[in-house]
Amino acid sequence: MTENRLAFVEQVIADLQEQNLYNNIRTIQSPQGAWVTIEGRKVLNMCSNNYLGLANHPALREAARKAIDDYGVGPGAVRSIAGTMTVHEELDKAVAAFKRVEAALTLQSGFMANLAVMPALVGKGDTIVSDELNHASIIDGARLSRAKVKVFKHADMASLESVLAGENEGRVLVVTDGVFSMDGDIAKLPEIVKLAKKYGALTMVDDAHGEGVLGENGRGIVDHFKLHGQVDVEVGTFSKAIGTVGGFVAGSAKLIEFLKQKARPFLFSSALTPPDVMATLESIKILTDSGELVDRLWDNGRYFKAEMQKRGFDVGVSETPITPVMLGEAEVAAEMSMRLFDNGIFASKIGFPTVPQGKARIRVMISAAHEKSDLDFALEQFTKVGRDMGLIK
Ligand SMILES: *Cc1c(COP(=O)(O)O)cnc(C)c1O
Repeated sequence: MTENRLAFVEQVIADLQEQNLYNNIRTIQSPQGAWVTIEGRKVLNMCSNNYLGLANHPALREAARKAIDDYGVGPGAVRSIAGTMTVHEELDKAVAAFKRVEAALTLQSGFMANLAVMPALVGKGDTIVSDELNHASIIDGARLSRAKVKVFKHADMASLESVLAGENEGRVLVVTDGVFSMDGDIAKLPEIVKLAKKYGALTMVDDAHGEGVLGENGRGIVDHFKLHGQVDVEVGTFSKAIGTVGGFVAGSAKLIEFLKQKARPFLFSSALTPPDVMATLESIKILTDSGELVDRLWDNGRYFKAEMQKRGFDVGVSETPITPVMLGEAEVAAEMSMRLFDNGIFASKIGFPTVPQGKARIRVMISAAHEKSDLDFALEQFTKVGRDMGLIK
């Protein structure tokens, strides 16, 4: 018999399956959009981050095609050696203008942006003060920095202050998600900024779910609260509302100059490709020109949430178009997701460790791409499945 050195891997998989926490990854056979094809069937997509429907927008497709003709497909190198092309600098500038900051640096993803900025700003002997529900990429950025991590209770300003008032070594960095993606609530950024200032700490916000959603024409959480110039570091992604792929850090010109010298994913991982960059530029242009898509997203979100509540579903504490349908046990969420799929709704379950134990849910992601008739179809199916499962009357 051969030795099975990977037996533990099989055990982990079996455990996940038994606990209903195994990720069944569905394959989409069509472009992204309100409706997608899965297993040969058209289903209503209610779980993508394509908030504004830009992922398959004709102008973005055209921009990517033109970028291939003009600049080819590969970046050739890391940005710090031979990978910075004029298009990258154009995008850096466009992001800075859109976010109303001095400068920005685009990276390969939002995840990478956190890994880039956190270890550059703080290290051994410093302190990171982090909201307990922050995204995994912030948690990993914090770990990678080797700074001491102190966690405050979610959105609890008394808890944040008690951490800040304690003994903290070295530089202190307070970090929060802008919009918490699993619940849809918005960080109390004005209070966070005030407390950070009081205790001499740096502030950082990861606005992945705020861009294209909050603020004027989707400029994000800093614009939403009119806190321009008061947040030291903004991290963002292009992979959600912007509709493409990539990430960025935005802030002062000096911060960006510093990151170009010190941020390891900038120095050691290759640049975004020209089609990514040009499609992203086009997306930012579309947002800058019109708030129409953002308005439609919010109209859709308000409508869907209100109708779900009327039908007796618990949609949590969301303040944004994100609509979590709170179900409790992972088993219930798994079953509901499966039944919805059978009824033409693609809405995936979210369980531990993405959300705490006992707080499993179906997270409905509303998009500007949804028509009112799509939302009505979804409401009908949720009601039917909810009744069949005895979750609502
Ligand atoms: C999605 C997300 C990221 C990761 O962004 P990618 O560009 O997909 O890597 C980072 N932070 C937060 C808060 C997110 O929600």
